[in-house]
Amino acid sequence: MPGTTVVDNAALLRRHGMHVTAPRLAVLRTVSDRPHGTADDIHRLVLAAIGTVSRQAVYDALTALTDKGILRRIQPAGSSARYENRVGDNHHHLICRTCGRMVDVDCAVGDTPCLTAADDSGYAIDEAEVVYWGRCPRCVAATSQKPTRQKPTSHQQKTARQETDQRVRPR
Ligand SMILES: [Zn+2]
Ligand SMILES: [Zn+2]
Repeated sequence: MPGTTVVDNAALLRRHGMHVTAPRLAVLRTVSDRPHGTADDIHRLVLAAIGTVSRQAVYDALTALTDKGILRRIQPAGSSARYENRVGDNHHHLICRTCGRMVDVDCAVGDTPCLTAADDSGYAIDEAEVVYWGRCPRCVAATSQKPTRQKPTSHQQKTARQETDQRVRPR
């Protein structure tokens, strides 16, 4: 697991000029323990951890922490935003189409022509967001056990489809 060193989240907040609040600390701890959760997942876990916290407080904390670059927000097509604390390395994600489970993949290396825009239209590109869609081993195993199986469509036959979405963040 990445990030096994003890992180002083209070110091982290102060270093970014943020007030240290119970919801922010609880959100940071939750996201580092259970990365790639949605805001609702995180709210549920934070509630269990600290008792009372409003949904709005969790949403506000997530927004503030993401704005400061302490958390990263991933917004897969057709899914709620997910949050993680592994920031700054521009790693990619695998997402299961069936159950929605998301895992990290290290940055693509080697021959990766899709990461270089053919025409940057004058944009100063600082990020290429890559999501590999497919089905996780658990979901593949669950389907292959069923005796009557629907004929897969052409793109379900592939275990993963790479979708590249190059976006430029406004400064
Ligand atoms: Zn799955
Ligand atoms: Zn990740």
